[in-house]
Amino acid sequence: MKPDSARPAGLSTLAIHGGREPEAAGSPVVSPLVQSVNFLQEIGTGDDLRYTRYANTPNAELVQRRIAMLEGGEAALVLASGMGATACALMALLRPGDHLVTSKWIYGGTHRLFHEEFTTLGIEVSAVDPDAPREWRRAVRHNTRVVFVESPVNPTCRVIDMKPLSRLTREEGMALVVDSTFASPINFRPLEHGADVVIQSTTKFLNGHHDILGGVVVGSTSYIDEVRQKMIVWGQAPDPFACWLLERGLKTLDVRVKRQNENAMAFAEWAENHPEISRVHYPGLPGHPDHELAKQTMDGFGSMLAIEVKGGGDAAVRMLRRLKLVTHAPSLGGVDTLVSEPRFTSHAVLSSAERAAAGIPDGFVRVSVGLEDVADVIGDVERALAVEV
Ligand code: PLP
Repeated sequence: MKPDSARPAGLSTLAIHGGREPEAAGSPVVSPLVQSVNFLQEIGTGDDLRYTRYANTPNAELVQRRIAMLEGGEAALVLASGMGATACALMALLRPGDHLVTSKWIYGGTHRLFHEEFTTLGIEVSAVDPDAPREWRRAVRHNTRVVFVESPVNPTCRVIDMKPLSRLTREEGMALVVDSTFASPINFRPLEHGADVVIQSTTKFLNGHHDILGGVVVGSTSYIDEVRQKMIVWGQAPDPFACWLLERGLKTLDVRVKRQNENAMAFAEWAENHPEISRVHYPGLPGHPDHELAKQTMDGFGSMLAIEVKGGGDAAVRMLRRLKLVTHAPSLGGVDTLVSEPRFTSHAVLSSAERAAAGIPDGFVRVSVGLEDVADVIGDVERALAVEV
């Protein structure tokens, strides 16, 4: 981890203690779960009203302070899901008649939100192929307010260069919004690279145990207040128990992510040499198109990767059916190694040819490498790929 004088402590220390209030003798060491929906109110004033739908319960506020510190932002707001976070983050920035420029390489749910929902609200949406970087500037119109990217990209693990994008958004007075779910703040902190807003699905690495749904938006205090207003009226606040579990998960974020990075590198190096795997998508491998960029800008290459199984969709299904340890399930970023086929999940709406053109041919299997002993994960996949004689 690069030393950072702007940060009050190291990331692992912040993940455990960040945002805690000073406590008197006799206070519990573990933050109590306060499940109450409502709180005593001062008579004669509406100030300081606490209510779960406002995301200002003690458990929500603690994780908000902590995640803001981890991302290096002024303020954070936790929400009921990653999708809720993306929706409210952008609704706080866009009005009918405004224009959003988005990367083409985004999670399928986000794609639907922009192209199916935002367009019906009178928001114009253009999508840019990040492989043609000059297109970003060409896509800008007089009413463009936001540029949205996801990096690393689900499921191809491509990495997007923030430098030209932050220059463009600064020059044009637009906001750069980055979904950094695949990286987590341990591997990449977009605010340090010129982004204005960071979104994380806390369902993934931040919680890390596959047992909550959540999202977070990080940015300036005044902007987060705007997002909060959207969250309140669209009913996107998280439950206190989810916040409590998120705080518990955060304590091990740094060690989990670092070990997962190591496991993923070992898995990718093994997979690269396997005769039944035609391609491995992992930014940590020198042959990955964004390896140099990832090396320069990220603190770790992450634990998301993808393999292309020789023989296409049928061969991938055959392998998945034979796995015993690795779990076939959607979602990512937790302690268990998970595998899924984007053709049946995030990219199901596309045809096989469209997916192939997007770099996701049939036989493409996404792997979220977990915390098991990596030799056992490799052994399981190796057995599942073995050619029967
Ligand atoms: N962003 C990315 C990159 C994702 O992969 C996902 C879900 O898989 C989301 C956002 C949405 O998160 P959630 O499922 O918590 O709503």
